[in-house]
Amino acid sequence: MIGTVLVTGGAGYIGSHACAALMEAGYQVVVLDNLCNSSLVSLERVGEICATSPIFVQGDVRDRDCLDKIFHAHTITAVLHFAGLKAVGESVDFPLEYYDNNVVSSLVLLAAMQQAGVTNIVFSSSATVYGDPPSVPIREDFGLCPTSPYGRSKLMVEDILADWHVANPNWSVCRLRYFNPVGAHPSGLIGEDPQGFPNNLMPFVAQVAVGEREKLFVFGDDYATADGTGVRDYIHVMDLVEGHVVALEYICRQPGLHTINLGTGNGVSVLDMVKAFEHASGQSVPYEIVKRRPGDIAACWADPRLAETLLQWTASRSLAEMCEDAWRWQQGNPRGYA
Ligand code: NAD
Ligand code: UDP
Repeated sequence: MIGTVLVTGGAGYIGSHACAALMEAGYQVVVLDNLCNSSLVSLERVGEICATSPIFVQGDVRDRDCLDKIFHAHTITAVLHFAGLKAVGESVDFPLEYYDNNVVSSLVLLAAMQQAGVTNIVFSSSATVYGDPPSVPIREDFGLCPTSPYGRSKLMVEDILADWHVANPNWSVCRLRYFNPVGAHPSGLIGEDPQGFPNNLMPFVAQVAVGEREKLFVFGDDYATADGTGVRDYIHVMDLVEGHVVALEYICRQPGLHTINLGTGNGVSVLDMVKAFEHASGQSVPYEIVKRRPGDIAACWADPRLAETLLQWTASRSLAEMCEDAWRWQQGNPRGYA
């Protein structure tokens, strides 16, 4: 299915990499982003990578007029819906902002798509919908019990999409549950650019390695894991966005409601990540063990077999590649896009 894809949140970390992957696969791309957590420079860089930039519309997904204008001006065949707020801790302090942005935007988007006759949507969900799983690896049929407003906003949208699909069985709806996206485009031109203090491990480690921060705080070394630190399923952002391209092609052939984990199936501890990053960068990453971060779970990794079966997709890039690519981005852009 080659055509024009609307990418909401396309100037952000995952969205900008998705734009590059879509354009390299031959799609035309229209980005809608309000730039609340991103910079337009990311899309200029996508233009350098792909020789042509995506069409950019600055606006909010909750703005129905803006969406209607986009659907009127372009023949959109599918939507990748990345736009949203994503900081777990912030969502505890500002739950209304999270429900408003993440849930309302999805409602407005679905209504606009319906009016425009666009029936293919891929939604960015998250492994956070599983909460603290009873066992690992996590399969898509595990119980869902998110522990933060952010996670609940993702689950609400998943439920809305399921109800919507019951009422509109001709639609193709894909709910992709990402594990921990890290790394950067191999060009080093685009990557993760957290505003202020990074919440996530990999950007924090990268900022320590490049000398922007003194040391990493490791949140707990008394978990029931091999080295006591938290274990996650880190997936290279390029693998993740390639997963979106194949998911898009799959759902366009296969109307239905699809729910798929995107992960590697490998668990990596905080200290494994520190070692891998030190190796990739040749820099030391000093760290201090501090107390556990409230709400954190010990271990979480995907059972990625459904993606393999349905999409013939598996994550192929190693932890070393994730660190090398993140390091190239970090070295070339020590202050991000600023
Ligand atoms: P990001 O913040 O880098 O990108 C999100 C983009 O959406 C930003 O460019 C922001 O400006 C834009 N945006 C936010 N609200 C908007 C609105 N109402 N209208 C228009 N634009 C809006 O985040 P990301 O890491 O690229 O994440 C993309 C999606 O993937 C999010 O929905 C996030 O919840 C989900 N996700 C991310 C991770 C992760 O670890 N990065 C993990 C699981 C799921
Ligand atoms: N972590 C850490 N120090 C940090 C950030 C994260 O020790 O500064 C740990 C965290 O406790 C977890 C892992 O790194 O075990 C991944 O955390 P991240 O916030 O990146 O992802 P999430 O917890 O949302 O899966």
